[in-house]
Amino acid sequence: MPERSLEIGEMHAFAEGQVGLAVLGCPIAHSISPQLHNASLKKMGESNPRYAHWRYDKIEVSASQLAEALPRLAELGYRGINLTIPHKVEVLPLLTSVDEEALAMGAVNTLVWGENGWSGRNTDGYGLEQGVHEDLGVRLEDSSILILGAGGAARAATAQCLLRGCETVWLGNRSLDRLAGVTEALGNVFESHRIRTFALSELPPEIEDLEDLLVINATSLGLREKDPSPLSLAGLSSDTKVYDMIYNPPETTLLAEARKEGMTCGNGLSMLVHQAARALEIWTGDRVPSEVMLREAKLAMEVAR
Ligand code: NAP
Repeated sequence: MPERSLEIGEMHAFAEGQVGLAVLGCPIAHSISPQLHNASLKKMGESNPRYAHWRYDKIEVSASQLAEALPRLAELGYRGINLTIPHKVEVLPLLTSVDEEALAMGAVNTLVWGENGWSGRNTDGYGLEQGVHEDLGVRLEDSSILILGAGGAARAATAQCLLRGCETVWLGNRSLDRLAGVTEALGNVFESHRIRTFALSELPPEIEDLEDLLVINATSLGLREKDPSPLSLAGLSSDTKVYDMIYNPPETTLLAEARKEGMTCGNGLSMLVHQAARALEIWTGDRVPSEVMLREAKLAMEVAR
């Protein structure tokens, strides 16, 4: 049963000993994060009773409400927050500290309450890395990487690949202005020669010669069932691996075309699960059963369809 989203005005304080976790976003009703986290907390509660007093909510918070919502949630007893659209970048000035990885990604998706306020981390890059390994059996650092998109998800993915030691990342986008903005920002953190860019409409011929190619879709093209593929895979070897961050629909046109070409593919459900598991690990300091989250995510997707 999908969990109801809450609004900041209807929140009550947690009792002594209880711990609140939540995802904030706008819109947020569609989020399946509470199912993943609460199922995992229930499982963890079987071996550690303290988790019986932890709860993960989804709370509708608009961009203009965020600055007020964060201290208010801390007062109520929330100790961990996930952020989604539209907060991942706008939250940065509201935080007391941001770790190095999140700074490189220019975005934060996980907040931890501490004595001095909220500090920021980013688990999206980790989620991608684990998802790609689990679904496709590849490690980022052993692959030639082609990332499609220049939004927040593409920037996090590129930073993760560069942090892991990939020599070069190819980054392609529809809007060249946005592509230039992202490469400039990443160029402040990484050597700029490690990021090579292209227009989505014109795949550079050098790509066809790359070995162990991994294509990652980080555009939102594919979210609608009838969306076309952001990239033509013609000319790429059938050994190419393709990962689409989109998980609903589970098979985008890009993945359907890749499958037809005999390529190994995966969708973003594994990334969603692993970024969530890592956030819960950060908040609890305990091992999190990601397999419980994956089972719950698959169930939630079946109900949603
Ligand atoms: P975003 O900041 O809004 O960026 C959207 C990107 O999609 C931009 O590069 C944009 O290109 C491109 N795009 C949009 N419409 C397009 C079209 N018709 N043709 C070609 N390109 C198009 O979004 P985001 O936060 O980076 O998220 C991107 C995707 O990743 C979304 O589908 C999101 O659901 C997914 N995601 C998944 C996970 C997960 O856990 N699985 C986590 C984060 C994000 P322009 O610059 O040209 O507009």
